[in-house]
Amino acid sequence: MNARASERLFRSVRRLWTSNRADGRNLAQLSPEYLSLNDAYLRTKQKCESKKLPLDVNPKGVFACNELDLKEVNIYGFDYDYTLAVYKASMDSLLYNLGLEGLVNKFKYPPGIQEMKFDPSFAIRGLHYDIEKGLLMKLDSFLQIQLGTVYRGLSPVPDVEVLKLYKNKTVPLAYVENHGKTSQYFSSKMIQLADLFSVPEMCLLCNVAEYFERSQIDYHPEILFRDVKTSVGAGHPRMHKIVQENVTEYLEKNPGITEWFQRLAAAGKKLFLITNSPYQFVNCGMRHMIGPDWESYFDLIIVHARKPMFFTDESRPLRIYDKVHNTHVWDKVTQIKKGVIYYEGTLSQLQELTGWRGSEVLYFGDHPYSDLADVTLEHGWRTGAIIEELTHEINTLNREEFKKHCNWLQMLTQLIEECQEVEEADAKVTLGTWMLERDKLRQQIKKVFNRQFGSVFRTYHNPTYFSRRLFRFADVYTSSVTNLLHFSAQHTFYPRRGVMPHEYSSYFV
Ligand SMILES: [Mg+2]
Repeated sequence: MNARASERLFRSVRRLWTSNRADGRNLAQLSPEYLSLNDAYLRTKQKCESKKLPLDVNPKGVFACNELDLKEVNIYGFDYDYTLAVYKASMDSLLYNLGLEGLVNKFKYPPGIQEMKFDPSFAIRGLHYDIEKGLLMKLDSFLQIQLGTVYRGLSPVPDVEVLKLYKNKTVPLAYVENHGKTSQYFSSKMIQLADLFSVPEMCLLCNVAEYFERSQIDYHPEILFRDVKTSVGAGHPRMHKIVQENVTEYLEKNPGITEWFQRLAAAGKKLFLITNSPYQFVNCGMRHMIGPDWESYFDLIIVHARKPMFFTDESRPLRIYDKVHNTHVWDKVTQIKKGVIYYEGTLSQLQELTGWRGSEVLYFGDHPYSDLADVTLEHGWRTGAIIEELTHEINTLNREEFKKHCNWLQMLTQLIEECQEVEEADAKVTLGTWMLERDKLRQQIKKVFNRQFGSVFRTYHNPTYFSRRLFRFADVYTSSVTNLLHFSAQHTFYPRRGVMPHEYSSYFV
């Protein structure tokens, strides 16, 4: 639309709009402030509609938080679960059902809780659970609670109650992070659920709490939390067995992984695996994904590593695992040999035995804290986070309707900021309707990711607590390790020049 046609349309819309006022006043009776406010709204709307929508983001992209030159990387390390091993939705149901079974059979919870079924769309990763108050919620990078995302059981807690309970929208730091101290003044009262195994755990926790609330059964949220955690954890050995019996039911093939490993080996890179899972379970999965010769791709394999202790403990000997007899050997490990399976140990020992140091190692994991935090903060390893949820998040961002809503939300927010000092009563009413429209838009944008909790990465406009930690601990992040297949071993990932609040909104305007 050219400028004159656009101006004509604007004037006719404005005429129509002002002549349809419910109080029957015509244009001449309206205050200049009111009119100029509505003019500004119509012009902004017009500008928004003519604005080009941003280009789609590649769901298989590798996104850099920090510059990473692969030429400097000689050693590639991997976690197993949810990093190399991509599980199907059936894995979540299995973990949920095993946890539920344990609660009824071992912890003697009421059999009625078995009515509560697993809902894969209930929770997202990165939520915080207040173990005293029994509330699940999403926090942003400023430790603010995102109102509207606080749940007791499956029921949302009204904002007024949340503000009454916490006396503030911001949660004190000591509530969330304990900095490794055990003093009561530093004990954290919130637990963050940051790995993908925790999604079924959160759903079980909320389902049981909901059952107790509905049945008016008194319960202690912390005891419930501990029991659910123990029960889901205790279900892991059975889960390992069930998956081994029918691996295709639970594990994706992850095509491309063998090709990528071959390419890395051809480029002279070393590969290693450090996983908390047991050998038999990993062996079964890797044979399914790569083939019986999977071990030949790795220069070092450590199972049962007990991360994050593997990265933080000073003295815990590395041991040899005997795959034939399914036991571990007592011998002292003095050198690393290809083809041998190791067990436990510490990172310092690994570095001593291999001579691998800092920035030549790139380690991939799905857990920003237990996989990535210590290796980057303490040992200077380069890190890659595998965040499976990126696929859903990026596909949502790429929807045309979503882009339009986002554009309008941004422009409307700016308009509200610029016009907020109005004094005339009618103008204030108009400003109020804009605020309502903005709130509605924000809700719409949030719900498309997950009805209850919105995006894993954002609260309304801030990064989530999860994102802040992720961006701090990961040099790059992507939805799957095999996305790296699209880049050569010489590639450099450059971070975007992020716009700071005091800078231009874009260098290309
Ligand atoms: Mg993992």
